[in-house]
Amino acid sequence: MNARLRKEIVNLVAMGLVIAVLGALTGFTSELLLIGMAGYLAWHLYNLAQLLKWLNKPKKVMPESVGIWDEIYYQLNDLYHRQRRARKKLKTIVNRFQNSTQALPIATVALNKNNEIEWFNRAAEKLFNLQHPRDINNRINNLIRVPAFTAYLVKKDTTDSLDFEFNNRQLALSITPYGHKQYLLTGRDITLQRQLEDMQRDFIANASHELRTPITVIAGFVEVLQEQVDSSKIKAPLEKIQQQTVRMQQILEDLIILARLEVAQTPLLHERVDIGELLQLVYSDALVLDRGRHQLNMSAQSASIIGNWVELQMAVSNLVTNAIRYTPENGDITVFSSVDDDGVHIGVEDSGIGIMPEHISRLTERFYRVDPGRSREQGGTGLGLAIVKHILDRHDASLHIRSVPGEGSLFRCDFEEFRQQMETSNVVA
Ligand code: ADP
Repeated sequence: MNARLRKEIVNLVAMGLVIAVLGALTGFTSELLLIGMAGYLAWHLYNLAQLLKWLNKPKKVMPESVGIWDEIYYQLNDLYHRQRRARKKLKTIVNRFQNSTQALPIATVALNKNNEIEWFNRAAEKLFNLQHPRDINNRINNLIRVPAFTAYLVKKDTTDSLDFEFNNRQLALSITPYGHKQYLLTGRDITLQRQLEDMQRDFIANASHELRTPITVIAGFVEVLQEQVDSSKIKAPLEKIQQQTVRMQQILEDLIILARLEVAQTPLLHERVDIGELLQLVYSDALVLDRGRHQLNMSAQSASIIGNWVELQMAVSNLVTNAIRYTPENGDITVFSSVDDDGVHIGVEDSGIGIMPEHISRLTERFYRVDPGRSREQGGTGLGLAIVKHILDRHDASLHIRSVPGEGSLFRCDFEEFRQQMETSNVVA
């Protein structure tokens, strides 16, 4: 029990005893008891009134009293000051947070579940043309009227970002959920970055185009010289020149293909691609290229997808060429297609040299090769899988790679269900 409360009870008992003694002496016990109780009650009522007055308008100074009320005032006073300090500290933190987010170079907009703006920083004012306080509580899709943005807002795909054009600027947006059905929309101006990427791409495309003619001329002259020169001393270097010019031509061709694929404006042809037919063609070409060095198989489950025949043929051909390159003689290579609930899968499996796990995530980078010497020796340019990746991106498809060093590799292109047209029969070779 609280010491003050105990003291209060002791005081009350003492008061009772005094009244009892006085009562016994005077013979007015009940009257004295009534007066004592009334006085005690009045004291409590007075203190309650003081407390209510203070609670209505809390001030720094507490009313003063004695006994139990002194303890109550003391406790309340302590609580009041502790809360004031905590509130002050919280306010400082909130202010500091708001100041730092205001100064953030990344445009940030807080949205509620109806996409209404709750708060935004200075960078967002500039990037999205927002105005404080005019746009607070306005729906953001009424202010940024771009269909791609509206679709992104409806989908609220927090795993993906959106690049779109707004007010002649290229913006990259992402959305992050927080609190209770609230969202933080962040945006960056990537106009300059895009311009640099375009310049870099144009440079590579132009340089490759410019180099194509002189190299074709050199290749032509080397061929003529090879036919006309008899000296064995010159024949060997001429052959080396011829090999290197072919290599350069292959690299240029691949660079030009990549540059074309990278230009996002090049529309993807939407035609019906019969996967069975496509695999049959790739398989026939592979038989010619392989010249009987491997056991080539085909297992095609027929399906049709919407896409670009030429690009898809190029992608699968690149995978087959790699399988031929990186599979020792007499190894097995299977070109396959299959259909399941996830969509259509087209791929190539080989029993070749395989790839160490640490290389797998980097294989689609330009010029990334596990063994550059071996790749060059086999006529590789280091661009094949980068081309495959670009083609698949344009078809909303992904490349799945599984490999065990020394046992073989699987390269599978996964096409989403919406690209699929229909399924018929199976073709096996
Ligand atoms: P390259 O022209 O060098 O073959 P790619 O981009 O096609 O270039 O492939 C990149 C690298 O991935 C290759 O150099 C090779 O190391 C590895 N690779 C690709 N396909 C296979 C495969 N089927 N088996 C083993 N390694 C492979």
